Amino acid sequence: MGTIRVGGVSKSFGSRAALGPIDLDVEPGEVVTLLGPSGCGKTTLLRVIAGLERPTAGTVTVGDEPPAAARRAKRIGFVPQSPALLPWRTVEANARLLQDLNRRAAGDRSLPDAVELLGRVGLADVRDAYPHELSGGMQQRVGLVRAFALGAPYLLMDEPFAALDELTRADMRHLLAELREGSSSTVVFVTHSLDEAVYLSDRVVVLSQRPGRVVGEVAIGLPAPRTPDVEDDPRFFGHVTELRALLREGRAA
Ligand code: ATP
Repeated sequence: MGTIRVGGVSKSFGSRAALGPIDLDVEPGEVVTLLGPSGCGKTTLLRVIAGLERPTAGTVTVGDEPPAAARRAKRIGFVPQSPALLPWRTVEANARLLQDLNRRAAGDRSLPDAVELLGRVGLADVRDAYPHELSGGMQQRVGLVRAFALGAPYLLMDEPFAALDELTRADMRHLLAELREGSSSTVVFVTHSLDEAVYLSDRVVVLSQRPGRVVGEVAIGLPAPRTPDVEDDPRFFGHVTELRALLREGRAA
């Protein structure tokens, strides 16, 4: 596993500049969150890193490979805003979906135990249920398990909790931090939530309004593993305040 390197990347759609230029390195095992105003290009940057979109200028490497090659080798896991579970597969079969589809590409990599992961997110009892029998928060937990079960060294998450209510969202970030504990994956996470950004990240990178450029970044100096009591730590509020100030700066940029 190596560094994700984004060098001078910009992206335009036709004559519309969506993003950049952006320089960003994400070190192996690091969790970096992208925070920025709506429409500033966060999803676009994530899709460029995932090899789903080509940059208009600049280069990206994911552990020395071009993104598309890393994606083909199933080294990149992508968690979208809504988990898109297959309605005809049970919870357990959905959790195993990416493993089933990618067993060959995963090669010798030993894959995490999907059932064990379901237990860790409190879904052991519903492993034989179907997605329509689950709440939105439960479906999103299955989506997270599915992504972690792939055992990909790079996980890209695009506002995975956007559709959930505030309390469920808080539960989800606590769960995600727990899932991360047993994993060494490098994570790039996109969110609008300052609390989520501070709770989950080693570092938060703030982008300006469109076309998104880096306004600044905050290294989160909170102890690991993160547990919910950290949200009462004065340093937590300090980081939230720093990020809010950077977001304001980015809006004026
Ligand atoms: P949000 O926080 O609202 O999800 P974002 O920061 O993720 O937004 P993007 O979705 O990356 O922003 O979009 C950045 C800009 O690029 C927007 O102006 C958007 O309209 C434009 N854009 C994104 N994808 C396309 C596309 N396929 N074709 C044309 N324009 C696009």
